Amino acid sequence: MVGMTRNWIIRQLTLGEFDSHRHVWRKAIGMAGKITVLAYGINLAAHSLMYQFDLLPYTLEAGLIAATVLTPVIAFSVSLAVYLVLGFAIYDLGVSHAKLEYLSSTDALSGLANRRAFLDRFDQCNDDRSLLVIDIDRFKQVNDKYGHAAGDQVIINIAHMLESVFAERGFCARIGGEEFAVLSCGMPFSEFAVLAELARSRMAGMRTQYDNDTISVTVSGGIAWAPREQQFGEAFSRADKALYAAKSGGRNRIVLSYGSDQQPRPGQTNSSVA
Ligand code: GH3
Ligand code: MG
Ligand code: MG
Repeated sequence: MVGMTRNWIIRQLTLGEFDSHRHVWRKAIGMAGKITVLAYGINLAAHSLMYQFDLLPYTLEAGLIAATVLTPVIAFSVSLAVYLVLGFAIYDLGVSHAKLEYLSSTDALSGLANRRAFLDRFDQCNDDRSLLVIDIDRFKQVNDKYGHAAGDQVIINIAHMLESVFAERGFCARIGGEEFAVLSCGMPFSEFAVLAELARSRMAGMRTQYDNDTISVTVSGGIAWAPREQQFGEAFSRADKALYAAKSGGRNRIVLSYGSDQQPRPGQTNSSVA
């Protein structure tokens, strides 16, 4: 009984996380109401006890009137004020924490996840994974010819294209200057390879307008299938090797690296096997 009461009180007092100011107000009013009822009950019990032992310095009636008028007002306003101050402080901390979390896991230019977030997502996946690593072809020439700002716009457009092709079927990240990666958890490798090839061909057909220039780029990519027990380093190095093979094979292509011979082959005309 004591344990249950104790747990109930802890549950009631735990401020937890608030998702809005409204939420803080709602919880504060609810909690202030409960504390008021509790304080009023204790006050009445104390009066009746003191009355029993003839310890009341005033009449019981006067005591009950004072308790009824004063206790709810004082208990409610004090507990409301305390809960609101704590609640808003916790809400503000939560907002700062969420901002920090966002900043530390997001690439500022493209809005995609960054390398750190990508690694975390890889580790969170408890299934077989498919991994794609993409690198923009001859990107240095784009910067040299059209300027760095135009190059940035190309990076942004490539990021959007990657997201639009994979949508919720792949976790997309910018893992380096002009390098991107996509992770799929549990998706059949053949489907993943089809999406990777679709992304490559859409990127090749994409045009970026910057000032008076129309910029087109191609990308090369490597994909690797990684069984669930395989670590990131090994899977990434296989995808990276496949990417290297795509570059040396002429660029604007996706090269596949299999982690197992049983894995299906997607049969993409523009893809080859490393
Ligand atoms: P390859 O086909 O072999 O990949 O050739 P590349 O020119 O793309 O490769 P390289 O590694 O020589 O050049 C990459 C370039 O990407 C160099 C660097 O200036 C540019 N770059 C990296 N990060 C950014 C960025 O954030 N914005 C812009 N505009 N350029 C970037
Ligand atoms: Mg590169
Ligand atoms: Mg490049």
